[in-house]
Amino acid sequence: MLLYRAVVTYQISFPAPGSHLVHVRLEFDASTASEDPRCTVWMAAWTPGSYLLREYARNLRSITAQVEGQPAAVTKLRKDAWQIDARPGQRVRIDYSVYAHELSVRTAHHDATHAFLHPAQIFLIPGDIAGPFAVDIALPPGWDAVSLVADPAQERRSQGRFALDLPDLDTLLDTPIECGQLQIVTLAAPAAHFRVAVWGEPLPERVLRRLPAVVAQVEATWPDRPYDRYTFIVHAAVGAGGGLEHLFGSVLGVDPERFAAAIRHEGAAGDPGDTDDGVLDFLELAAHELFHAWNGKRLRPAVLGPFDYRRENYTRELWLVEGLTSYYDRLCVLRSGEMPVAAFLKRLAADLGRLAQIPGRHIQSIADASFDAWIKLYRPQDDSPNASISYYLKGSLVGLLIDLWLRSQQPAGAGLDGVLCALWTAAGERTGGWSNAEKIYRSPGYKVDDFIEILTRHAGLEPPDWLRATWEKPGDLDLRALEHVGLVLSEKPGTHGALEPGFLLQDRGGAPWVQHVLAGSPAEVAGLAPGDELLAARPAGGAWLRLRTARVPRVLEHLRPGEPAELLVSRRERLETLPLRFEPARTTPELTRLSEPSIEVQENFRRWTRRSWNES
Ligand SMILES: [Zn+2]
Repeated sequence: MLLYRAVVTYQISFPAPGSHLVHVRLEFDASTASEDPRCTVWMAAWTPGSYLLREYARNLRSITAQVEGQPAAVTKLRKDAWQIDARPGQRVRIDYSVYAHELSVRTAHHDATHAFLHPAQIFLIPGDIAGPFAVDIALPPGWDAVSLVADPAQERRSQGRFALDLPDLDTLLDTPIECGQLQIVTLAAPAAHFRVAVWGEPLPERVLRRLPAVVAQVEATWPDRPYDRYTFIVHAAVGAGGGLEHLFGSVLGVDPERFAAAIRHEGAAGDPGDTDDGVLDFLELAAHELFHAWNGKRLRPAVLGPFDYRRENYTRELWLVEGLTSYYDRLCVLRSGEMPVAAFLKRLAADLGRLAQIPGRHIQSIADASFDAWIKLYRPQDDSPNASISYYLKGSLVGLLIDLWLRSQQPAGAGLDGVLCALWTAAGERTGGWSNAEKIYRSPGYKVDDFIEILTRHAGLEPPDWLRATWEKPGDLDLRALEHVGLVLSEKPGTHGALEPGFLLQDRGGAPWVQHVLAGSPAEVAGLAPGDELLAARPAGGAWLRLRTARVPRVLEHLRPGEPAELLVSRRERLETLPLRFEPARTTPELTRLSEPSIEVQENFRRWTRRSWNES
C-alpha cells in the first residue's frame, strides 16, 4: 500500500557487520524552493526525550555524491552540514556510512546479530525538503525488522527487505527501526494491541505475563487512547538500560541478568516473582515510557515541539514531563496489582532516602534542573551531587505531593489524574484531536501556568507557597501531605557504630576510586578528591587495612564514627595520608501505615492506590 509519494529515499544495507558501519544511500531531487543553487544536507544534533547535544554527525564516514549520475563534489560547511553542487531539480544521490556501536536507546548499534537504527544518527536530511520519506532496508538472511510506526500494517516485508513510508521529518526522526534476530510477541488481552520486539536474550514468560495488567492500568489513567497500536522495542543485553519514548512506541533497555530470579521460578507454582526487583523495575520502565505516549509526546510543554533538531530546546518544565511520569510509572504498577503495597512503600522510602543524600537539593530547583538538563543532568561530572538535582527523582516526589495535597483538598476528587486528564482534553482540542501525527508535532504545547490554573480549579484554591516551592525553589520537601493517606514517615537509625563515608566510589578493575565527595562531609574537609584511588584505611595508630572495592564495607567496619582515622590514597601516582573523623551513619526513611486509621483515611488510601488498606 503506497501511502505517500516519497520525495526522499533511503536505502540501507549492512555490508560489513564487523565494522559496525551502516551503509545509507540517499536520493532526492535538489529542492526547487531554495534560493541557493547548491543543495545542503544536515544531521540532527539531538533526539527528543534525551536532552543532550550528541552531535550525531560525528559518526558519519565516507560521504560521496553523484548529481544526475555524475560524481559531484561534497563540501563540508559545518560540523553537521554538507553542500553538494546540484542545481534545483537535479537528481542527487549521496552514499555514506554511519558508525553505529554505542548500545543505548538513543544511539545506533550494529553488529552481526542486529542493527538498531536510531533515526537521528542514521538519516542525513536534505535541507528545504520536509518529506515524505521512504526507507528501504536490505536485511541479512534470518533477520526480521520492527519499527515504531503508527500502524504495523504500514511496514512492508518481502524477501530480505523491510520498507516504510514516513510522511514528514518529525515522524522520520521519531521512528527507530530494530533489525535482527528478534523475539516478536503480541501481549495477551487486554493488551493485544501491544507488540513487543526483543533483541538480545528473550524476555521470560513470567515478565511478559505481568505486562498486560500494567499497560492497561496506564491506559486507564487517561480519558482516551491516542494510538491504535503500540510497540515496545526491547534491548535485552548485559549493560543495557534506560528507555526512550516515541509517539507510537518506545525503546527499552534491560539487563537480562536482572531476570535471573524470574527465570529460575519459571514454571514454578504460584508467583514468587511478585516482589522481584528486576521484574518490578522493568514493569516501572515499561509503564514510564508508555505513560509518555500521553505526558511528554502529545501533552507537552510549549518548547518540546516543534523541535529545533540542531540546537538546545530550553524548557523549565521537564519536571512535569519526567517527574510526573516517574511518579505515575510506579503508581500504575501498584494500581495494576503487579506490585505489593509493601514494595511500593519501600521503593518510595528509598527515593526519599536517595534525595536526602544529595547536597545539590539545596542548590538547584527542579525547574532550573530542567532548564540546565543539556549541561548538567545529561553531562554529569564529579561535583554533580553537590550542585544539581534530578528532576526525575525529586520531580516524582513533587508529583506525589501535588497529588496528595489535591486529594486532601478534594477527597472525593480524582487527584492529579483529574488535572492531567483536563490538561490532556484541552491540549487535544487545541491540536484538533490526536489522529494526525504531523499536527501533534507542530501543535503549541502548554505552559506551567496552564498546569497551575487547572490544578487551582480542581483543588478549589491556589496551590500554597510550600507546594509551589517544591518545583520553583531548591530545598527539602514538606512531607506532611502523606498523612492524608495514612502514611507515617519515620527515620530508622543507622546500625550502631556504622559510619557515613561521605564519598561515592567507582570500581576500576577491583580498585575503589573516588567518584564524588559529598559537600560538607568530613571526607571533603580532609581533602579527599574525586579521582583519588583509595588504597588503605586505619583507625589512628592501628594497622593499615588494604582497600579493594569488594572489601570497602568490611574495612570501614574497623573504623568508628567520631574517632580519628586515616585514609591512604593515590593521587596522580603519589601517595598521601588523609586524617579524618567519620560521622555516624545517617538515618534511613521508612514509610509505614498508621496503626489505627480512621475509615476516611482508609478510603483516601484506597482512592489513591486502588488497593485496600489491609493489603500486604
Ligand atoms: Zn521519561
